Amino acid sequence: DIGIAPSSPLHSLAPPHLDAPASDAHKYSRGLVAVIGGGMAGAGLLASRAAARSGAGAVRRIVPDADGRGPDAIITSAAMKVADVAKALEDKRLSAVLAGPGLGRDDGAWERLEAVLESEHRLVLDADALTLLADKGPDQLPAGAILTPHEGEFARLFGDVPGSKIDKALAAAQRSRCVLVYKGADTVIAAPDGKAAVASRGSFWLSTAGTGDVLAGLAAGRFAVTGDPFRAACEAVWLHGEAARQAGAAFIADDLIERLPAAIARRL
Ligand code: AMP
Ligand code: MG
Repeated sequence: DIGIAPSSPLHSLAPPHLDAPASDAHKYSRGLVAVIGGGMAGAGLLASRAAARSGAGAVRRIVPDADGRGPDAIITSAAMKVADVAKALEDKRLSAVLAGPGLGRDDGAWERLEAVLESEHRLVLDADALTLLADKGPDQLPAGAILTPHEGEFARLFGDVPGSKIDKALAAAQRSRCVLVYKGADTVIAAPDGKAAVASRGSFWLSTAGTGDVLAGLAAGRFAVTGDPFRAACEAVWLHGEAARQAGAAFIADDLIERLPAAIARRL
């Protein structure tokens, strides 16, 4: 129970209005997304593939010991030692950076995450990045980022916050100065300035492995495209839900990614 009627027009997430690329667009003008990996490759790949189908122009995976080839023809991988991540993040063409899915939680992962936190890029933090930050210092949450915690990650980061799920998300957004995407059967998107939206009655088939990684990649892609964290978060949650509706029943995370282009086409 999120503490507010799910159909309340005050908060219910509206379908987004998306733009097609400009006629003179090129891959970098449409947004270059970097995904920082290093732990479980599968989660990072799902996020990268979702970012590649988000409307952004290009995706670069930054992973230690990559073999130089992407998981498919259009996602490039850069082979990185931990110390080289900061250098890779110096690329001015990067429009957004995702850290979390498949990042890992060891000392190397924390070093990679520190490099991300020190960069000036638009950031999306999920999964292992949120767990590492909860352990090592929630005060290091970077203002202006998008955070996508599920219930456990939210509690680790922010503790026991009183009120409804919307109250909790708004309080966390204000405290961290980040946009919160507080996931679950109902997902609340909240901004530090008090804006909030609720996506309810989503497909319960989303309760399967990897769907959170898809959402994180999608959020990074939309952040790269729009430059606005609240708008990007709302677009990502809506498109994720629409892809799930179109995927029907018993789908897996990969199936959601396949549905993203059609979900985007509905909102142009
Ligand atoms: P994660 O917890 O990181 O694996 O992310 C799971 C994703 O699936 C999030 O986007 C959740 O909002 C969504 N999700 C999980 N369970 C449900 C459910 N029962 N109904 C609707 N959406 C769900
Ligand atoms: Mg997750």
